[in-house]
Amino acid sequence: LSSKLQDTFKKLKGKGKLTEKDIKEATREIKLALLEADVNFKVVKSFVKNINERALGADVLKSLTPGQQVIKIVNDELTSLMGGQPVKLTYSPKGMTVLMLVGLQGAGKTTTAGKLAAYIKKESKKVLLAACDVYRPAAIKQLQVIGKQVDAEVFADTEEKNPVVIAEKALKYAKEHFYDVVIFDTAGRLHIDEALMDELVQIKKSVTPDHIILNIDSMTGQEAVNVAETFNEKISLSGVILTKLDGDTRGGAALSVASVTGKPILFAGMGEKLTDLEIFYPDRMASRILGMGDVLTFIEKAQADFDEEKALELQEKIRKQTFTLEDFKQQLSQMKDMGSFKDILEMMPGAGKKALKGIDLDEKEFTRSEAIINSMTPEERNNPGIINANRRKRIAAGSGTRVQDVNKLLKGFEQSKKMMKQFSGLNNKKHGKFKFP
Ligand code: GDP
Ligand code: MG
Repeated sequence: LSSKLQDTFKKLKGKGKLTEKDIKEATREIKLALLEADVNFKVVKSFVKNINERALGADVLKSLTPGQQVIKIVNDELTSLMGGQPVKLTYSPKGMTVLMLVGLQGAGKTTTAGKLAAYIKKESKKVLLAACDVYRPAAIKQLQVIGKQVDAEVFADTEEKNPVVIAEKALKYAKEHFYDVVIFDTAGRLHIDEALMDELVQIKKSVTPDHIILNIDSMTGQEAVNVAETFNEKISLSGVILTKLDGDTRGGAALSVASVTGKPILFAGMGEKLTDLEIFYPDRMASRILGMGDVLTFIEKAQADFDEEKALELQEKIRKQTFTLEDFKQQLSQMKDMGSFKDILEMMPGAGKKALKGIDLDEKEFTRSEAIINSMTPEERNNPGIINANRRKRIAAGSGTRVQDVNKLLKGFEQSKKMMKQFSGLNNKKHGKFKFP
């Protein structure tokens, strides 16, 4: 899968713009690659449809090639198909939490039972393992050995041949001994059959689990979908654990199982050791399926830079909106120093005579304006909205001017503010700074 996709993206790389034809070509190859990886065809179909829709309307980030943009979309879509965010194992608020592990023979149920016990014990909970596989030779012994390794007690009854009866006894024992969590290790078959499903339905009825968790070997491929679908139909799964992800797997199983059941993948088995259990991260799995770690890192960085740029732009805008009389005063004194500000403004690109219409930049007024602003309190300078009639009278008196002069200054300030906004708009469009002549 990975190398196939990589080839596809190499073809897209370096093109100026993503055309409809490009997307079609890319998604056709993605489709083939996923099918080759044994992802269920229904999953592939809806996946490709999503990619088509998203890629067509998408903006291409400045720093990415169109091909990289498609990779980002594919990666996001893979992540969301597998649940988006990691999902935590929850405990019953009523008291004891009952977990039931199901799956085909060799899927890793007994090993995972031990791994889960170790994981749950770390959360200071008392765990009981219940041995309900009476068919596989030495299955009970295997769980007892594992239980010893993780220091968890194992409930077993070697005399009893009916797994449903063992399950009932184990539940009773767990209640009497105040266990926080009990994990039922059940039997599997090489293939799904009626007898196995009936037995699991019986056990489910008698112990009413909080969680029924399907263990699935990530090497399973196409068959994974049928297994997950059947288990989900018959006993209604609450989640999935993907085992043997440490192997040389293509990862297609994760995608189809999550998509077909709509149930979260809780953990990934990462080896035979009982500590080899990891929380399942959909985004990491997506990267793994794509097999393009460094490209994805690059794309993430570009995205982060892009976000930062946006934040700075916003900051600048906010700054312009909160342009205060204090700023205005500074501007006025700068103007005084520069001489005829109007002449300078007229030379600036985008700021023709039209923009300056109605703004009186009489040199003599600068001094008067400064005096008026000096008579204002800091609060008034920062928030001119509060300057009512009374305040205007006081400011006029303090600066030796008339109320009309104060009004005129405030009007000039408002116009100046508007003008600044216009300029910042021009600035953004050109992606460049103004240059004074
Ligand atoms: P069960 O039949 O479903 O109970 O499966 P087991 O727990 O007996 O596991 C079958 C085999 O798979 C054993 O040899 C385990 O050591 C191995 N196994 C289980 N989980 C993992 C895993 O995450 N990684 C690897 N490499 N091997 C695993
Ligand atoms: Mg087993």
